[in-house]
Amino acid sequence: MSLLVVGSIAFDSVETPTERRDNVIGGSATYFSYAASYFTKVNLVGVVGGDWPDAHTQLLEERNVDTAGLVKVDGEQTFNWTGKYLPNMNDRETLDVNLNVFGTFDPVLPESYKTTPYVFLANGMPAIQMKVLDQVESPKLVVADTMDLWINEHRDSLLDLLKRIDGLVLNDSEAKLLTGHENLVSAAKAVLDLGVSFVVLKKGEHGALYVSADDMFVLPAYPTEAVKDPTGAGDSFAGGMMGYLASVDDTSAASIRRALVYGTLVASYNVEDFSLDKMREIEKSDLDARFEQFQSLVNFT
Ligand code: AMP
Repeated sequence: MSLLVVGSIAFDSVETPTERRDNVIGGSATYFSYAASYFTKVNLVGVVGGDWPDAHTQLLEERNVDTAGLVKVDGEQTFNWTGKYLPNMNDRETLDVNLNVFGTFDPVLPESYKTTPYVFLANGMPAIQMKVLDQVESPKLVVADTMDLWINEHRDSLLDLLKRIDGLVLNDSEAKLLTGHENLVSAAKAVLDLGVSFVVLKKGEHGALYVSADDMFVLPAYPTEAVKDPTGAGDSFAGGMMGYLASVDDTSAASIRRALVYGTLVASYNVEDFSLDKMREIEKSDLDARFEQFQSLVNFT
């Protein structure tokens, strides 16, 4: 089954304690699409400025990402984000964000996208996420991501969105900010009370927690020493998770657990290099090999 994503497409400038990269390919929808493309066809909805090279779009098209919904506005600039990681490589500071063309984006779905059964509203303005949701016809599963900026400054429209979607994926700190609960399980349950059927809390290097009304699942992150740039870990996690679910077209508890494992594994590769660089090197078979390794790492009787 195909999978639709809307979110940011960006130029990122990233500083880690040892290295720096300027104006590399980034954005929530970009990381998500690339990660999901190991599993299924992706319909991308987004906007870029005239400064976005066609070669970047081709990179996605080569991965079976449909870019009919990617709008290029000549004379405007692409969204850009600048961030700096603290020495623990988990916490980061946003140094600069320029929404540019993303700030006034009014998404119009190509006719061919409207019946996409799996939908992911990647990190972006809740009003834009909702506009996309308005245009899809009876999707099977709608999941969204969000961040502190939208929780703080667009809270009401975010709360409206939560009443219309199935699942929410967000960081532990964002769940605390959204609900006021310090305890993660309480925070997850409070998110369910806001109208979603399930919530996935991303805990960075500490893994992920899935909570629904009748199930709970915890996973550590795949242990790797080779963390070079954590940017996009959350988006590639979501891409792996949703890509797997769309590929099996099944949202049973067993499939959701496997989807969370694939999300964890794509993210574990993504952090091994800047931008999309590591994901560009790997194949689905690498994910399957790491799946088996991970299974033995978490297995106990
Ligand atoms: P992650 O590390 O998974 O949280 O995702 C980082 C990506 O999110 C970067 O590539 C940024 O370009 C993008 N990003 C940063 N801030 C925002 C924002 N306010 N809205 C949408 N995307 C953003």
